[in-house]
This record gives sequence, structure tokens and C-alpha cells, in this order.
Amino acid sequence: MILRRAIPLLLAAASLAYGPPANAADDAEAERCMDLSASDPAAALKMAEAGLTQQGSQRDPRHLARLHLCKGHALLMSGKREPAIDEFQLTVSEAERLQDEALLAHALLLRGEQRGNNGQYADAIADLKRGYELEVKLGDVYNQNYALSAIATLYADSNVKDYEQALQYYRKLLTSHQGRNEVQNMAVTHFNIASTLEKMAQLDAAQEAFEQALAIDRKRGVEADVAEDQRALAVVLSKRGLHVEALNLLDQALRQRLRDKDEDGAAAVRLSRGAALRRAGRHAQALPDLEAARGYYGKEDNLRFLDKIYEELALAQSGTGNWREAYAARGEQMRVKQELQKQLLDERSSRLRVQFHTEQAQRNNEALAQALSAANTIRRWQYAALALSLLAIGALGVMMRRQVRQARRMRDLALTDELTRLPNRRHFLELARGALEQAQRDGKPLAFAALDIDHFKRINDSYGHAVGDVVLQRVSHAARLALRPGDVIGRIGGEEFLVLLRGTSLDQAMGAAERIREAVAAVDCRDQAPELKPSISIGVAAYDALAGTLELICKRADDALYRAKANGRNRVEAALA
Ligand code: GH3
Ligand code: MG
Ligand code: MG
Repeated sequence: MILRRAIPLLLAAASLAYGPPANAADDAEAERCMDLSASDPAAALKMAEAGLTQQGSQRDPRHLARLHLCKGHALLMSGKREPAIDEFQLTVSEAERLQDEALLAHALLLRGEQRGNNGQYADAIADLKRGYELEVKLGDVYNQNYALSAIATLYADSNVKDYEQALQYYRKLLTSHQGRNEVQNMAVTHFNIASTLEKMAQLDAAQEAFEQALAIDRKRGVEADVAEDQRALAVVLSKRGLHVEALNLLDQALRQRLRDKDEDGAAAVRLSRGAALRRAGRHAQALPDLEAARGYYGKEDNLRFLDKIYEELALAQSGTGNWREAYAARGEQMRVKQELQKQLLDERSSRLRVQFHTEQAQRNNEALAQALSAANTIRRWQYAALALSLLAIGALGVMMRRQVRQARRMRDLALTDELTRLPNRRHFLELARGALEQAQRDGKPLAFAALDIDHFKRINDSYGHAVGDVVLQRVSHAARLALRPGDVIGRIGGEEFLVLLRGTSLDQAMGAAERIREAVAAVDCRDQAPELKPSISIGVAAYDALAGTLELICKRADDALYRAKANGRNRVEAALA
């Protein structure tokens, strides 16, 4: 039903020290930054930015490119996906220019994953494949597997659904893990192959692959993994009509989860057992399991599972002849589905991020285990003991930071406009207020541009609201890309936007506004309607003695916008002196 987890891999930060012999201090800095970016992104960001703004023309461009990669990774880990992609983008072009293949490979893999999260599947796969080929050439098996896993996961994504391709990559990955006798990774990959086969409705083959994962995990003796394998295998058995075997496995898995006090695991088993009982025609017995699962996932607000639960509840209730309850469950399912649709994008990104952290913790543990087995002198043991206590401290830190990050992500959601992914009105005004205070303190200039799409009502009326929405998205995107780093655009209302231009005089702001106007005029909407050509009008105002408050500056920008409209639209006007 759901892929358990990806292969526990992480781009090896240590292998970032490459390229022709560079300055050793630079190497150390880039490595430390990359290490920090996962454990303490805020510190890594500071470090990268300090390194990047440090003056001195003798700075090695390779080093700067590595700092950009680190900055991108730190941004990603802080939940700032869009600016992270920009940094990866920059690193890719720099690495290409410098013909630095190892750096290029890293940047491509990171960019590819994020493009996948953004739904740019074709670009994502192109990046990942190119990154993979480079890693093959460079001989880094670890990163090759990272790429294979990312490619397979993309192909198996519910929006791509190219399961044949996914299988091909998972099998390649499996061969690699088998060659290196990485048993845990083998089990994970069997599991992912099985899930993919299940989605292809090849239940026999899926069963076989789940059985292989189960056999390996049994040998490994990791009970939680065994329980998860049993649950997944049981679902396939149940779908094949092998009810007794399925329910038997689910009972075993549930006992393990309860023994482990693993609430989350137990709820997943209850959902699967409820569905299995329902498939076996034991509708009344299915209800308590499904209700228990609903209680848990409702509390967690886990829409994906709630969708499935309400579906099962509706089927079980109608099986027992409770039509009213069945109808109510369907209603709930529809509500959940709508909510899911809305959250799809954000959810996908956060899932990957959380998973990334779990993988990292796992890798730390593996590294420690290796260090321990290699330690054959007292001295080494002392180091190991030290490392262990550091790791314990580090793990605590990671856990706390993860909490903070989750909270921050929820906050980010509340600050972003659904349709355009731009900061919403409230968030933009908050940022603008901060920037204005800063400018007043530092005595620096600051400007605002007010944007409004021309004849937008006509666009809606002629082509429909859906096309209007597409225009809004494309215009927002084009405007955002035309900004310089540090500038911010927010959606203030329907088809109205404000741009904050830091450290910018009125003259410079006019130039920036003209660039934005041109970028929007070049937006291609011919796929929506052949003669559709959106444009915007812009009014620009700068902070000065005449306009000392945010309200006044915005009012002046708005007046200028009004004149741009009156003077024929698709043009920029400055506020009157
Ligand atoms: P002007 O060039 O003078 O700005 O003309 P206009 O038609 O753009 O002016 P007006 O501000 O009157 O029209 C704005 C329209 O934008 C009205 C409203 O229905 C539409 N609108 C507001 N928000 C959305 C949205 O989220 N999606 C779509 N499709 N339309 C929206
Ligand atoms: Mg308007
Ligand atoms: Mg308008």
C-alpha cells in the first residue's frame, strides 16, 4: 500500500572533498558546512553565507560553488525548498563551468529530488539519471545507489506510475546490495519491489517479494521490520482471498506492535486487519479495528490513511446493512479526499525531508557500529566511547530540531498562498514591515512595486476561471523568477501583488519593475487559448520623507499603478514626487 522507506542512504558529505588539490582550510570548511547542514541547518546556513560574502578575489570558485551547495542543503533542511532549488541550480551551472564532475553529480541528485517533489517529473528524472551516470564514472557506489533509489521512487510515484521502470531500477539496486551483502538494504528493496508489484496488481509476484523481505528481516531479528513485512504480506494474501493466512499474520504483527507499545504500527495493522476482515465478509468484526484506526489517524490528522479507513468503513457498514452509517462514511471520505488534493504538494516534500533525517540517523548508527568493530586497541575504544557520548548528545539535538522544523513547516503552510505558492498578504506585510524598519535603522533605500494583472476579469469571462487560475500561477512564477535575490513578492488579493525591493532607490526599482513587466509579457499561455497574452501594470514607490509608513508607501505605489492602468496598461509608472 505504501512504500516503507527508501534505502538508508545519504550523500556522503566527506566525498565533497574533491577536485584538484585546493586549499585544505577551504576543504575543511566545505565539509564541516555539509555535515552541519543536516544536523544544524541554521548554523550551516550562517557558515555558508559568511563564506560566500567574505571579500577577497582570491577565493577559489570551486570552493564558493561548494558553499552554494551547502547553503542549498541547509535551506532544504530548514524547509525552504524553493530557495534551496535555486542554490542547487546555481551549483549545477558553476560545476558545469568548472567541469567539476563530483560536485556536478551531487548538485544534480539534490536538484533532481527537489524537482520531483515539485512535480517536475521529467526534469527530475533527467537530473537523477545524469547524476547517476556521473557517479558511475566516478566510482562512488554509495551515491550511485542513492540515485537509483531516488529514480525508482520517482517512477513509482502515484503521479508518474511508470511501475515497469521503477521495478527495473529497484532490481538494479537490489543487485548492488546483494553484491555488497547489505542485508537491511536488500530487505528494504524487496519490500519496495513488492509494493510496486502490488500496485501493478501482480499479487503473486508481490507476495513472493514480500516473503523475501520477511525472510531476511526474520534472519536479521529486527522485530519491528518483521511486523511491517507481515502486515504488508497479509494485505496481499487477503487480496488474493487467502483470508485465514492473512488474518493469522496480522494477529502476529499486532501482538508485536502492542508488545513494543508502537501505537503508530498498531494502528496500521488494525487498519489492514479491518480491511482483511471486511474482504473475508466478516463485516461486523471489521468495525472495531477500523474504528480504532480512525481514532488514531484522526488524532494524527493523517489524511492518506483516513481516506482508506473511510472507504473501508463505508464498505463494512453497508455489508452489515447500516446504510446511514455507510453513507456518512462516504461523505467523510469525500471531504478527506478534497483536503488531500490540496495538501498533496506540501505533504510530498515534508515526507521526503523527514525520511531523510531518519536515514541520516540510521547511517550514523551504522558508521558507529563499524567504528566499534574496527576498534582493536584501548585507544580506539576510548575514541569510540567519546564518539558514542557525542552521538547521544547529537541525537537528542536532532530530535529537538526535528520538532522545531515540523512546527516551522506548519507555520510556513499558514503563510503561503495556496494557488501561487507565494507569501500571502499577512506574511508579506509582516516581511515588509520588518524590511522597512531595517531600512529606517540603516538609512538604506527601499522600494515597493504594486502589480495588477490587466483585464483579468475579461480573461476569466472569456476562458473560464480555471484558465484564470493558470494565468495567475504562471504570472506569479514569472514575476518571482525575475526578482533579484532578497526581493520578495507576495499575493495581496485576487490578481494583485506587491513586491518588496530591498536596498533599492526609485530609479533602480523602475528598472526592476520593467524587468518583471517584460517577464510577464513573455509568459506563454497559448496552450490555454491561442490568443491569450497576459500582461501586468505596475506602480512603483520608494520610501522617503514623503512616505514614511508602510501604508503610505503602498498607497503611493497603488496610485502609480492606477495611472499605469489609465495610461494604457502593460506599463510601469513611478509615484509622483
Ligand atoms: P484591470 O486591468 O483594470 O485590472 O482589469 P481587471 O479585469 O483585472 O480588474 P478587476 O480588479 O476588476 O478584476 C479582477 C478579477 O479577478 C475579478 C475576480 O473575479 C478575479 N479573481 C480574483 N481572484 C481570483 C482567483 O483566485 N482566480 C481567478 N480565476 N480569478 C480571480
Ligand atoms: Mg484588480
Ligand atoms: Mg486587474
